[in-house]
Amino acid sequence: MNRYLLPFLLILVSFACKIDSKETRTKPLIVATTSILADGIKNIVQENADVVALMPAGVDPHLYKASVRDLDLLTNADLVVYHGLYLEGKMTEIFEKLALSQTLIDISQGLPKDDLIRSGPEAHSVDPHIWFDVKLWSKAMAYVSQEMIEWKPEWKSNLESNSTAYLAQLKELDDEVRTKVNELRTAGQVLVTAHDAFAYFGIAYQLEVKSLQGLSTLSEPGLRDLTELITIVQENKVKAIFAEQTISPKAIRAVAAGAAERNHQVNLAGPLYTDSLDAVGTPAGTYIGMVKTNLKIIYESLLL
Ligand code: ZN
Repeated sequence: MNRYLLPFLLILVSFACKIDSKETRTKPLIVATTSILADGIKNIVQENADVVALMPAGVDPHLYKASVRDLDLLTNADLVVYHGLYLEGKMTEIFEKLALSQTLIDISQGLPKDDLIRSGPEAHSVDPHIWFDVKLWSKAMAYVSQEMIEWKPEWKSNLESNSTAYLAQLKELDDEVRTKVNELRTAGQVLVTAHDAFAYFGIAYQLEVKSLQGLSTLSEPGLRDLTELITIVQENKVKAIFAEQTISPKAIRAVAAGAAERNHQVNLAGPLYTDSLDAVGTPAGTYIGMVKTNLKIIYESLLL
């Protein structure tokens, strides 16, 4: 993101999110860490609560550090919901402290362990990008719905019917992704992106995926990764590679330039929405919209 734009957006968000104190508000306030999570929760609670995303649209959750204002918002909320799996890598201690006084839901706790992609034995080696497998994200949404019913039993029938309707929309979305990706696989295409966000997508929809940076954007890609990726792009005659909205396109641009030096022209497409939604009201401003927007960009860039 443009460095002059960010402070402006933060000021804008701080006005937009001005909150009433616990005593004076008319509805409970739910704070979700990312825009992706906040959108899912909005669909389930509907008018029962106000739902606010802690991180503004376009912000990288791996690198996000909570501000003083964020801490105020989190301690003032009636419920805090987060992804877990170290997606919010710099907020782990905050969640531990909040747990002493606050109601928290860690949605990763609701996922079957076998569904998670793990690259090593350490706790932080689990891939947090679960929303790229729509079925897995549905399980997370079903879990958060159940947990919210425990928190507000009086909302039970309403939350159950909202979540049934939302899960039906997600089922339809999953079918749509599967159909389109089947075509990409048949055409022998590989999905090459800036950071490793698409592993769940690759497994769920059976498409080969490659990326330049690891699971978190905290680590920088090396020269070896770059050379390997250029070879993959060249050998598979990949038509397009993809930038991401929360990441600088510098490194992925170097892949396109490297392929061009080897006489393979590859388009730099995107950006894809990976770890954040676009602004509210835009096509990729909801989870379903984000998945559809990404699918359209990927499909059209690799196939048409
Ligand atoms: Zn990520």
